[in-house]
Amino acid sequence: MASTTTGKVSDPAAAREAGPAPGSEIAETGVAYFDGAFVPLGEAKVSIATHALQYGTAVFEGIRGYWNERQEQLYVFRLREHFERMARSCRIMRIDLPGDPDELSAIVVELLRRNAFRSDVYVRPLAYKAARVVKVALHGLRDGFGIYAFPLGDYLPTGGLAARTASWRRISDEAIPARGKITGAYVNTALAVDEAVEFGADEAIFLTSDGHVSEGGGSNLFMVRDGELVTPCVTEEILEGITRETLVTIAREAGYRVVERKIDRTELFIADEVFFCGTGAQVAPCVRVDNRTVGDGRIGPVARALGERYSALAHGDDAAHPEWRTAAYR
Ligand code: PMP
Repeated sequence: MASTTTGKVSDPAAAREAGPAPGSEIAETGVAYFDGAFVPLGEAKVSIATHALQYGTAVFEGIRGYWNERQEQLYVFRLREHFERMARSCRIMRIDLPGDPDELSAIVVELLRRNAFRSDVYVRPLAYKAARVVKVALHGLRDGFGIYAFPLGDYLPTGGLAARTASWRRISDEAIPARGKITGAYVNTALAVDEAVEFGADEAIFLTSDGHVSEGGGSNLFMVRDGELVTPCVTEEILEGITRETLVTIAREAGYRVVERKIDRTELFIADEVFFCGTGAQVAPCVRVDNRTVGDGRIGPVARALGERYSALAHGDDAAHPEWRTAAYR
């Protein structure tokens, strides 16, 4: 049976822990925002005939809130930027959002207050083609919108993971644009991660159709070569990650040189460090690629330093970049 947890104030265990592992089924006990109202999560349902369920015509976001026990505060990390990206994904998919990034951010804050979480949480907004219509197109279809949230611990192992290059190629911008966070596109991730896990790895590495490194299954990728940080550019079929942009900023502030360029697969075999990043993944160092040891097989100094700074900023223990944190509680 799948485990569940609520992470509410009434659940002291969840308040102490970082939250359940991914793969745990989400408890339907909290409050959701669904088509204009706050409702019990268990009542936020769609019809089986919903266009998005049938054809993958929805866009979503993954946002994290970090609980700071000392300050008794829940900080939402880069909230506005997530809704700005969601608006861009919606432009691609011709979905109308029910508000601008500021209005949607205010709904998230209210949702977190109503759920009264005292743990790290994950917030999932979803905008979707709601029409019960059998017509595979985008225009002229009714849209729906909802947000739910739940406690979540690490999405990927952060103690040094193993990755495997996928035999599945990353979807190209000419087929399904990876820069849009489109639900249907995650079939590509599911196939690749499933394969990686079957071969004993934790995360997949996608190559583009021309054989260059693109990104992880649900994360962006960096490598370190000769003290320089390298990450694939935005035209390499990646999701334009908010954590990627955050790490580029804090790495440059720390004095590292950061370049965005094409990466060959074998560069990962000879790199000093490889690490993944994402809202869910956070900073996840990679110590093995395709059964080869990366560097000396231990978490490298750059991934360690960036991971610690990222965590301190996200939790509000480091006061720099206040514009990145939204305090959910008064
Ligand atoms: N790439 C993919 C395919 C993802 O699903 C994610 C997670 N949203 C990322 C990259 C990282 O993006 P972000 O840092 O904005 O969460």
